[in-house]
Amino acid sequence: MDVLDRPSVEQLQGAHFDVAVIGAGINGAAVARDAATRGLSVLVVDKADIGSGTSSWSSRLIHGGLRYLEHGELRLVYESLHDREKLLHIAPHLVTPLPFVVPLYKHNHKPGWMFRIGMYLYDTLSLRKSVPRHRRLDRKAIKVELGSLNPEGLSGGLRYYDGQVVFAERLVLETLISAVEAGARFLTYAEASVAVSGGRVTGLKVHDQLTGQQFDVHASVVVNAAGPWVDEAGAGLQLDRMIGGTKGTHLVVDPFPGAPDVALYYEARSDNRPILVIPWNGRYLIGTTDDRFEGDLDATRGTDDEMDYLLTETNTLIPEAGLTRDSVLFTYAGVRPLPYRPGVKSGNIPRSHLILDHESIGGLISIVGGKLTPHLSLGTETVDKVAAVLGRKLPASRTAETALPGGASDWPAAARALRRELAGHDYTAAVVDRLLDVYGTRVRVLLDLVKSDPAQGALIGSGDSALLTAEVTLAVKAEGAVHVADILHRRSMVGLLPTLGLDVDQAVAEVAAPLLGWSAEQVGSEVAAHREYVRLRLLGGVDRAVLDEAGQPVATS
Ligand SMILES: Cc1cc2nc3c(=O)[nH]c(=O)nc-3n(C[C@H](O)[C@H](O)[C@H](O)COP(=O)(O)OP(=O)(O)OC[C@H]3O[C@@H](n4cnc5c(N)ncnc54)[C@H](O)[C@@H]3O)c2cc1C
Repeated sequence: MDVLDRPSVEQLQGAHFDVAVIGAGINGAAVARDAATRGLSVLVVDKADIGSGTSSWSSRLIHGGLRYLEHGELRLVYESLHDREKLLHIAPHLVTPLPFVVPLYKHNHKPGWMFRIGMYLYDTLSLRKSVPRHRRLDRKAIKVELGSLNPEGLSGGLRYYDGQVVFAERLVLETLISAVEAGARFLTYAEASVAVSGGRVTGLKVHDQLTGQQFDVHASVVVNAAGPWVDEAGAGLQLDRMIGGTKGTHLVVDPFPGAPDVALYYEARSDNRPILVIPWNGRYLIGTTDDRFEGDLDATRGTDDEMDYLLTETNTLIPEAGLTRDSVLFTYAGVRPLPYRPGVKSGNIPRSHLILDHESIGGLISIVGGKLTPHLSLGTETVDKVAAVLGRKLPASRTAETALPGGASDWPAAARALRRELAGHDYTAAVVDRLLDVYGTRVRVLLDLVKSDPAQGALIGSGDSALLTAEVTLAVKAEGAVHVADILHRRSMVGLLPTLGLDVDQAVAEVAAPLLGWSAEQVGSEVAAHREYVRLRLLGGVDRAVLDEAGQPVATS
């Protein structure tokens, strides 16, 4: 197992980086991976955990973005479809094809022919794709395929394929690990601002939240990839406002009566906004809203009104669903880092990213927008700009051809072999499935840990949310986790099960304590911090019982 040490202040102060990246979301990680693999020295700094910003709070689709065609964003759709295909190959354990159906209703704002033209364009822009082309469903066919859909005004539908990244958090993490394998350094829980002298960047001013230290790091170029926080990270530089984000909320429910086995892309009856009902992680993800947001970016959460809107629309689409607030296991919300466009309706703000260099500050590049899907293209485009600033000729990017750390050229065969090995241990099918879905071929690292020390194979907790001791070791030693929430919500992904990690957080903290040097008191504060995180970010800020007295998830209706 390659151990990732947190760099010390001395190491960072003594170094000079070609490029320093603010933000370890998907875009910061993609820039770091592209830059490091093309030979640049790179530092990534994040004020929280890797992938803990917007990249954790999305619809988790790796998609061309059918609706962006309507706004003429052809380049975005083309790049996204291109990157979708690449991601299906370089991260097959994380990114998988997902069948969709668009039901065509009389109430739809967009006429059926517009959807159909969109589908042809979608297919044309992705000619060499590995997923099937779209197919029309007439009224009879859609009723056979999706008998639970509200029949009122239903005239047919369109079936097509896109991609899904169930654990977007791991996509960010593996992208960053790939950068680190190529020589990049990273520092989490450290807030950065841009250091400037004489109209040029000199690097970053860093405030390490774990040690309390403040220090400068030298870099020739700074890439501000702080997502919706881009303006905050660039504060004090007298730049025009760049971001005008919109908030989107999702909710997660158990399988319900009439639940589809495909994803549904539906125009809401109340306001014609797109609604998604997506099979996800054995449950359903329902989203999303799209409202301008000027609040606290560090505390976004779903509200009761948003929950009611999404539940009502889902119940209208699938009348037998009968979903109520009590059906909701958890919610989450994030802010899309869209360009600042005062006066433009939120749904009409362009979704294409901008990579800005600033005339007033040499060596500063800011990323505005940038979805999960086209991050490979965005990374390369940004590093091409970095190279121009540095006056360096770099080799061509290989990120779209190189497997991520958990990937494999023949993932089904690799997964079968790993599954056979896991069968030699006493783990339930749910645990084995999660290990393969979350870690891909990195399961091998876990198995090696268990082989060298059988105690690493011991389960923490029981049932579906049990995790291996080795997962905590891997998270802390090789994947940069420093808090309990990091281990549960962005490494093992146990925190996205219905128990939200609350059934295992105490035990996980005790296992992590010797690895992270925590005292008994710190174990207590880590558990408390995790519970507050869950309450604030996943339970809408409400004290709601998630576990019953036996430590099982409270039954939902
Ligand atoms: C509701 C919703 C649904 C979406 N659905 C999809 C989808 O299905 N498919 C898709 O492709 N895209 C989707 N998106 C868009 C996509 O999630 C985002 O555009 C993308 O994740 C942005 O990534 P990022 O790296 O730019 O920002 P982030 O992921 O937000 O990362 C920015 C990072 O910067 C850090 N940071 C901030 N300030 C500082 C500082 N001063 N110092 C150090 N670090 C700092 C933050 O902690 C954070 O980790 C969706 C977005 C939303 C909100």
